[in-house]
Amino acid sequence: MNFSYTDDQASITSALNGFVASTLLAGYMRRDRDGMFPEDAWQQMAEMGLFGLRIPGEYDGQELDCVTAGLAIEAVARGDFNLCYGILNSAFVGDLMARNASEPLRREWLPRLAAGDARISVCLTEPHCGSDAAAIRTRAERDGDDFVLNGEKASVTLVMAADAGVVFARTDPDAGSRGVSAFLVPLDAPGVTRHPYADMGSKCILRGSLFLDDVRVPEANLIGKLNGAFGSAMQTFEYTRALIGLMCVGAAMQTLEETIAYTSQRKAFGQPISRNQGVSFPAAEAWSRLEMARWHCLRTLWLRDQNLPHNAEAAVCKGMVPEICVDVIRDCLILHGHYGYTQDLPIEQRLRDVCGQLIADGTPQIQKIIIARHLYGREFV
Ligand SMILES: Cc1cc2nc3c(=O)[nH]c(=O)nc-3n(C[C@H](O)[C@H](O)[C@H](O)COP(=O)(O)OP(=O)(O)OC[C@H]3O[C@@H](n4cnc5c(N)ncnc54)[C@H](O)[C@@H]3O)c2cc1C
Repeated sequence: MNFSYTDDQASITSALNGFVASTLLAGYMRRDRDGMFPEDAWQQMAEMGLFGLRIPGEYDGQELDCVTAGLAIEAVARGDFNLCYGILNSAFVGDLMARNASEPLRREWLPRLAAGDARISVCLTEPHCGSDAAAIRTRAERDGDDFVLNGEKASVTLVMAADAGVVFARTDPDAGSRGVSAFLVPLDAPGVTRHPYADMGSKCILRGSLFLDDVRVPEANLIGKLNGAFGSAMQTFEYTRALIGLMCVGAAMQTLEETIAYTSQRKAFGQPISRNQGVSFPAAEAWSRLEMARWHCLRTLWLRDQNLPHNAEAAVCKGMVPEICVDVIRDCLILHGHYGYTQDLPIEQRLRDVCGQLIADGTPQIQKIIIARHLYGREFV
């Protein structure tokens, strides 16, 4: 076991910490109020290589290991949790396509994804199903050399600003999870329309619905095997769930550090409020929980780097860590007194933003099902 950073990891995190502090942090609240796609920050992130972290070098990516990708998203989350959705989408699409797409499709899209020039959304959830993702109804029917897609996708991150979507669709109506395929669908194709949501937090990620009405894509846009997309997607989720854990930890750790600074300056009853254990103990507990969460997520990514099983570990990252982080941010908000409740400080926004990850990519209940199956075996859960 070796828990120290490699030289590369140390220099990448140091560069990112500087970039986050000097460039991203100051705009976090403004981007929430604007509620628009963060064009400038996106461009700056692209220049830092943040959209191609794990994309192979032959497609102009950084080809980093999973642990380093995790350290990168954690660093960015300290500055702006919501910008991490760009990294997350690229991580999901990059991983899925690099492992499964045909060479021409990879050549066409991965360099653009890595450069931040192509924004690609993940379109799995539908109005009637999210947790039960194998129940999707969007259909893709073969017509000559094309597939024709019809259906509605719900809750799609960045959909209002995306150039394309990885759309999961049913290609065998009777085969459940074994009848799902994935297609790269350019969102300027005839028959595509979109509708934005009004969200509680993460407003600049422009979540929305995607409608597909006789949308035609060539067979070449099929990602992986026909009817084989469900398993591939689940394997990719094992990676992104650990990234999500670390992005929540980044936002919560930043909030905790701000809280320690505030509570050691703020005075009540003639002394810094941190002199009360009612203040310093929640901070101590928060740090302890975040440290445990952080190292669990990093270990999960390490397991992936070693090609070792990490299905249950990834479910812990997604099922437990966002809850820990929401609790920590809520406690930090209270330790700021009434100032914490204002929009002059970023804490209320972090609480709203991180809450989204209690639901996205699978709720805590669904993660507990995965963990329980790991412990008991599928036949007992
Ligand atoms: C910020 C955000 C971003 C998102 N981005 C994307 C995206 O980019 N692409 C995409 O496809 N989707 C996205 N989603 C959708 C997300 O993946 C789904 O919302 C999630 O999987 C839950 O599905 P659902 O909302 O349909 O809830 P449901 O499946 O209807 O579940 C509702 C409640 O019932 C519980 N429940 C359901 N089944 C069980 C069970 N068997 N046992 C116990 N409890 C159960 C759930 O845990 C939940 O609390 C996003 C969601 C959010 C909030």
